[in-house]
Amino acid sequence: MTANRRPLIAGNWKMNGRGDDGLVLALQLAERMKAKKGATFDILVCPPFTLIYGVGQALDDSGVGLGAQDCHAIESGAYTGDVSAAMLADLGCAYVIVGHSERRAGHAEINSLVRAKAEAAHAAGLIAIICIGETEAERDAGKTLDVVKDQLSGSLPDGAGAANTVVAYEPVWAIGTGRTPTNDEVQEVHAFIRAELTARFGPSEAQGLRILYGGSMNPNNARELLALSDVDGGLIGGASLRCEDFWSIAQSCP
Ligand code: PEP
Repeated sequence: MTANRRPLIAGNWKMNGRGDDGLVLALQLAERMKAKKGATFDILVCPPFTLIYGVGQALDDSGVGLGAQDCHAIESGAYTGDVSAAMLADLGCAYVIVGHSERRAGHAEINSLVRAKAEAAHAAGLIAIICIGETEAERDAGKTLDVVKDQLSGSLPDGAGAANTVVAYEPVWAIGTGRTPTNDEVQEVHAFIRAELTARFGPSEAQGLRILYGGSMNPNNARELLALSDVDGGLIGGASLRCEDFWSIAQSCP
């Protein structure tokens, strides 16, 4: 983390939350945020589509941001079951996650589609949180940086920059497993991502663009991870479902 990048703590609720439990969590977070004077971090939650409207109402003007977990690449039309970025903006979302590994694996989302979704997010005025990360087999084969390079170049649109894009590095094998890379390994990949962003978008955009770490971040490991020089926040799954844990992670921002 450096002074010119404000830490971002993003919660990915995945397919969790029905009615009151999601709203209670949102209200608890909103209360914490309202009571916090002069927060030095940004914080947001990405509930399932069904809860976005209600959570948005519960968050009100608390300062906790609202995002979604996916969007379609087209603005409107005959796409049964899909939700467009413009619809998310209508609901008050400011962010949308695209290219999460669970969508890449479970919905066959390839880089070109992730890129199209990020472009749609930008067109709708949303900040795209673009996820990348290697599988365990790829890491074991020594291919981590190759995979990350390929996903970065394929998934980020040309119009990406510090104002409309966040990159989330999420090693697939660390998601929901309780395992994380070492701090040195995380910093190595984040520094590599920053160098790739610098080569493509120039130093000014790359210095401002936030790179989040995701994968089993919790209150016990957050402080060390968030202190790494190229880690600008976290994308948090499991621990974002408990207000205490999620808030504690946010409090660990340098
Ligand atoms: C995620 O799904 O983006 C994630 C990081 O999950 P978890 O924190 O549960 O590993």
